[in-house]
Amino acid sequence: MADYQQTMQNVKCQILDLWMDLIDEKLNSSEYFELLKGILLQYFGISKSEYLHLDKDTFYPVSIDAAHENITQGIPSKLLEQHLHQEYPFPSAFVDILKKKYDFADDVIVLREVNQKPFGIIIVQETADWKNFAKTKYIHDFEMLLSRVIQLIQKNIRATYEQKMNIELVRMTGIFHSSMDIDRILKALLHGVRSALPKFESKLILSNDQDRHLTVDTHTFDYMSERSSTIEAFVSGDMKIEQAEDIEWCVLNAPIKGRQGIYGVLQIFAPLNYVFGKQEKDLIMHIAETSGNALENAKLYHQSHRLVSDLQLINETSHRLNMKLNQEEMLLFLAKQLTKSFNPDEICFVLKENDVYQVTTESTAFFFENESKPYLKYVSDHFDKSTDPLFIADFSNLIADRVSLMSMMAIPIIIREKVHGFSIVLHNKPYFFSFDSFKLMQSLIRHSSLAISNTILRDQLQEMVDRDHLTKLFARKYLDRYVEVSMDKDEGGVFILLDIDNFKMINDTYGHQKGDAILVTIAQHLIDTVEGQGICARWGGEEIAIYLPNQTLLASIDLVDKIVTSVPEVTTPSVTVSSGVAAWQKNLNHNFHNVFQNADIALYEAKNNGKNQFRLFEMDDVTN
Ligand code: GH3
Ligand code: MG
Ligand code: MG
Repeated sequence: MADYQQTMQNVKCQILDLWMDLIDEKLNSSEYFELLKGILLQYFGISKSEYLHLDKDTFYPVSIDAAHENITQGIPSKLLEQHLHQEYPFPSAFVDILKKKYDFADDVIVLREVNQKPFGIIIVQETADWKNFAKTKYIHDFEMLLSRVIQLIQKNIRATYEQKMNIELVRMTGIFHSSMDIDRILKALLHGVRSALPKFESKLILSNDQDRHLTVDTHTFDYMSERSSTIEAFVSGDMKIEQAEDIEWCVLNAPIKGRQGIYGVLQIFAPLNYVFGKQEKDLIMHIAETSGNALENAKLYHQSHRLVSDLQLINETSHRLNMKLNQEEMLLFLAKQLTKSFNPDEICFVLKENDVYQVTTESTAFFFENESKPYLKYVSDHFDKSTDPLFIADFSNLIADRVSLMSMMAIPIIIREKVHGFSIVLHNKPYFFSFDSFKLMQSLIRHSSLAISNTILRDQLQEMVDRDHLTKLFARKYLDRYVEVSMDKDEGGVFILLDIDNFKMINDTYGHQKGDAILVTIAQHLIDTVEGQGICARWGGEEIAIYLPNQTLLASIDLVDKIVTSVPEVTTPSVTVSSGVAAWQKNLNHNFHNVFQNADIALYEAKNNGKNQFRLFEMDDVTN
């Protein structure tokens, strides 16, 4: 019979030697166990064994790192429970359960804490040496020895891990406290997580209002495509763990939370059915919270800087816009500011003219192409129903058409509580514009709306001064200026004076109101007939003047004839007109006063000659 007391002594000595040799080498559980396996082989000829560690309610193998399939191969403790407190030799029913997973299983060594609570098992192959040894009382000493040694090893591993973690956390927190650089904070966060949990994958999902110029690998939070557990964590601010069968991972979602808000979610991917321990969860939550606070501080710091520069920009913009620019100058200036602030690929301004949206010429060329139609339609439809600005991270999600520009901000131009137009900026990348940009653009457009409204009002006022209220013909003052400019720059022109025949009688017979209506009809008819050749103005009472720049007397005959013959046709009751026509030529040294007088003379002749006709003022008329 072998001297098992001596064997036990030898084993103890060898374990002590191993311990001394290895204490500083910081091996992991499986590496320690490999060394213990050597002892099983050396003293009992056991070449196959496996150590399973009890974690909560499952025995997991530690021989291989927690790679995907191995972790899921744990043995639920309830299967073994009734056998664990029995004595050597264990009943075959116990071994049979283990045999299902480990075909070499012939016997078990149960590892127990001081209070006898099992914390692991070593499954062994049965050799003759082992069989003999297991029958002796030394088996209990051996079991106790292995239990103590493995507990010490685990304590050592845990201490090593905690020490490493503490160093890592101190380093990470140091960066969090010292840096206002968001990129650096996020890098430290990811580095911290990856060294704390080296076996798991991790992913950082940040909300959309982040700085867009990060170099660190992050993802943008998207309500449409995020997992519901991730959204839940983001919204509630609590950690959510999901066994995601669809992707075959256990997903832990830790919200990146500061005092004022939640900035994103840290995702940790463990193998499916993995159970995160309390220590792991506390650690992840600690990292997520400290990084959330650091991120918040950095954001507030940047925000205050940005606010100052935004205010400067708004101030500069308001100042420039109040410098009585015309509409074109103003929109060009705004386009420049929008480009400087947001760096968009395309910009447009759309203003309502007679209730129809018109793209202004200050917009980029893209907005005059077909490709821009879906954007313009989407935005104008929206502003027909609402005054809310639009902030769209990925336009391709919203419409069926294929589009090349994904990010969009569209802000209404509101004048007296009504949408008078809008401005759109586009960028080809999705999620390009930050929420801060969106707020700044709203501010810029709101401040500019008043100035735009002022130029529109100014134009309207000018129009009112320039046009006759009843007939919408140009006012006489406007005609005066128009002819003056033409006589300065053109080679010649024709001036036509019209007077309605017997208008007094029309008024007397049908009433003044009917007279007004006839005047309006004739005015509109003249505007239509003359269109493109010159302008029509109300000369006074029922007299209308037409001026045709760059026209000769002879060439105007057709038009005047057409007018005189068509007026009776378009009026009810039918009225006739008489007309006098005079021309000027550059070389003949005319002034406006001559020309008008000449036309008046011709008109007088037309009246005297029986009305309902026109007369040309020929140069001979003066000389005669
Ligand atoms: P004729 O020119 O053929 O010699 O006769 P007439 O009756 O048209 O005479 P005259 O040109 O001198 O008279 C102008 C009349 O036109 C007088 C005025 O009652 C009328 N009239 C002038 N302005 C308006 C207007 O805005 N509305 C209306 N309803 N009548 C006007
Ligand atoms: Mg008259
Ligand atoms: Mg008249």
